[in-house]
Amino acid sequence: MNSNHTVSERRGPPQDALTASTIEGLLQESERFSAAGRHLEGAASGEQVLATPGVTPSQQARAREMLALHRLRLGDYQAAVRNGLQALEFHTATGDLLRQSRVHCTLALAYTDTSLTEQALSHAVPALETARACGSRLAEFWALTRASTVHGAMGDTERGVDLGRQALALSETLDDTDSRLVAVNNLGDSCLETALAQRAAELDASLALQEGLVLFREAVALANAQGNNFIETIALTNLVSILIELNEHDEAREKAHRCKDLAHANGFRNLEVNVDAQLAEVVRAEGNLEEATAMMDAQLACPSIDEDLALQIRLHQALYEMHKQRRRFEQALGHCEKLNKLTLQRTVQTAGLQSQLLINTLEVEQARHEIERSQLEAEVQRIRAEELDDQAHTDPLTLLPNRRALDRELPRLMDRARDLSQPLCAAMIDFDNFKLVNDEYGHATGDLVLTTMAQMLRAVTRETDLAVRVGGEEFLLVFGNTELDQATLACERLLTSVRDYAWGDVAAGLTCTVSAGLAALEPAERVAHWLERADTALYDAKSRGRDQVVTVDVG
Ligand code: GH3
Ligand code: MG
Ligand code: MG
Repeated sequence: MNSNHTVSERRGPPQDALTASTIEGLLQESERFSAAGRHLEGAASGEQVLATPGVTPSQQARAREMLALHRLRLGDYQAAVRNGLQALEFHTATGDLLRQSRVHCTLALAYTDTSLTEQALSHAVPALETARACGSRLAEFWALTRASTVHGAMGDTERGVDLGRQALALSETLDDTDSRLVAVNNLGDSCLETALAQRAAELDASLALQEGLVLFREAVALANAQGNNFIETIALTNLVSILIELNEHDEAREKAHRCKDLAHANGFRNLEVNVDAQLAEVVRAEGNLEEATAMMDAQLACPSIDEDLALQIRLHQALYEMHKQRRRFEQALGHCEKLNKLTLQRTVQTAGLQSQLLINTLEVEQARHEIERSQLEAEVQRIRAEELDDQAHTDPLTLLPNRRALDRELPRLMDRARDLSQPLCAAMIDFDNFKLVNDEYGHATGDLVLTTMAQMLRAVTRETDLAVRVGGEEFLLVFGNTELDQATLACERLLTSVRDYAWGDVAAGLTCTVSAGLAALEPAERVAHWLERADTALYDAKSRGRDQVVTVDVG
């Protein structure tokens, strides 16, 4: 975990009277708490949104976005990642690039803090891409800042500095003192990291230290001018670290005391303890090992230090080195053993946290797959139901609509005709002497004839018409927006095509004809009466010798 101090978010003056009853109010409240650094209260507002009945998915996503940030600040990385991933999913689905970028930034930071650098990078990159895609320079600034932190944490200090410089350059175009302050402090931090890495590799670190010094001085001045005590304390802490490295002991001590006062006055307990360690480091750097040892021992004896593993490790490391330097090997060994134990403890802690985080990440992904799966399943069921419905309304032999389909479709056609004052005609069609076809050629040939007939019926009908197999060898044609004379012509054409069809190809010597009875729908006529009239006309056609169309006038 990063032991340096970076400024991570915008902070404004805390706002009082942050009360709101509506969801929107709560969301805004959560954002204001974030800006004020009041994360416990901000998280509470976010949770309250989620627990409110009637909250929309969009509001849920915004609440989770805020919760991710608040939980991160409170050190609850699991909750931060869980909420962040869920918010991200929604913002991705809705194409909200700006919010995607913000959540990616939060996730990048959460994974960096837990040393899951690969995951961190997998969010830092899209944070930048989405920020650029939506054209928000502020979002781009934050994405660059996060990317800089991620690369620094990955040990690529050079790229960290480079990205930090880009962020700083961008902040200058933003006309926003907050981001300038953040950029200066973060770039300073990258310089400090670079210097420490150079020192560890026994390289010359003076350039990086000088640049860091200038930046932290500016950060302290800016924070002071803005009255931002929190960032001023952090910037002072960083400044002290650089001054120690530069052997500027007097100024280091002076700034450390100022920092300690500021931390104490504002209740920044962690930062105050940290400055104590720095003061001891100044004494050590001055060569007063005995006093430095005493100071650090005193710090370790303080019960509150138990919560700060990183600081304990730092102190034991320093004590081990000093004892060794003074050839007090027994004490050195004691600290060395303690150091091993603490390092192991930290490794176990980090590994546990990392695996929990990865499990959470997986769970969120699985939940998404589950949603996708159930959506697909619903779609399959809908299609199946549609198929079943189609089957129930289709004659299996001819694949024409059946009587049930007629019952469903005919009222619609009639309503439409009446609404638009359009004529509607019904033709009852019946095969002539079909019994003979079956008797002479067999039932299978009879079936084939019916199927062929169905195709002829389709050929005479249009989109707005209806061709139905109402039973056995009887069919009903309904002609939409068609006058009786036109319908008669269509029926005549059908009779001709049946009569002239090459039935001999179906069965040697086979001939077929059909008869038709036609009736136009009268205004206000009931469906049963209308079809009865068509039926009567058909009966007439049969009795007049078959293979003909009979049209009835008003009955
Ligand atoms: P008409 O000219 O008076 O209508 O005489 P027809 O023989 O066509 O009339 P009838 O009602 O006496 O006979 C209809 C025949 O149609 C009887 C029945 O076996 C046959 N039929 C009904 N449905 C099917 C079917 O799905 N396949 C076959 N092959 N024959 C069928
Ligand atoms: Mg018949
Ligand atoms: Mg019949």
